[in-house]
Amino acid sequence: MMLMARRERYKSRRRERFPRKEEEVVWVPRTQLGKDVIEGKYKTIDDVFASGKVILEPEIVDYLVPNLQQEIIYIGGTPGKGGGIRRTATKMTARMHKSGRRMTLNALVVVGNGDGVIGIGGASSQEHRIAIEKATKQAKLNVIRVKRGCGSWECNCGGNHSIPYKTEAKRGSVTVKFQPTPKGVGVVSDKESKKIFNMAGIKDIWVNASGQTGTRKNLAYAIFDALKKLSSRKGDKSSTEAEVQMTPKEEVIEEVEPKEEKK
Ligand SMILES: [Zn+2]
Repeated sequence: MMLMARRERYKSRRRERFPRKEEEVVWVPRTQLGKDVIEGKYKTIDDVFASGKVILEPEIVDYLVPNLQQEIIYIGGTPGKGGGIRRTATKMTARMHKSGRRMTLNALVVVGNGDGVIGIGGASSQEHRIAIEKATKQAKLNVIRVKRGCGSWECNCGGNHSIPYKTEAKRGSVTVKFQPTPKGVGVVSDKESKKIFNMAGIKDIWVNASGQTGTRKNLAYAIFDALKKLSSRKGDKSSTEAEVQMTPKEEVIEEVEPKEEKK
């Protein structure tokens, strides 16, 4: 008993000296934008978009966009038995080395709030989990505001369930064309693309994809580009906003470096 007591005492003293790490990591912003966000200068993510500043910390998006969800786009595949391929979350690529093949795993993640904010990002690592984590961070840095609307003449409800007008984009060999549809049609596309529209909050859309659509990565990026184009159409109100978003690189670098050091 004596020994136990002594051991307990030792343990508690040791715990005082080395406190257990808190589970929740407190975000300490490193960029000026991050500091401004914490201080409350930007109330919503749209304020950040309007300012034209480039988001360099994924935590900014976590902080400003409530109920942000993430989904992995299955870009990998292994040829299975009996025909057809089995989709896997990460794509395995190999490069040759003198001792054999060196494997790299690639992941593609889409984040969104189901209400017009969406981001997509890819990353690679030797480990499955790390690749997905890195891709999620990248996706958060790439968030955009998707312009929704009801561009279907058959519907004309003025709601937000579809897109305002036709759009298209190309990545690699993949070309996607979107067309607004009336309410209740649903997302007419393949399973992986549906994830992107769900995240963006688009309920009705007609998608025509051509080219090597089996290359999921190109398909996903083409969809993202097409959605991005919606808000940068010329003659549109939001086109000026989209132009502001293109910030020169110099400004970004200034943001990262602490200003005290320069003086
Ligand atoms: Zn409508």
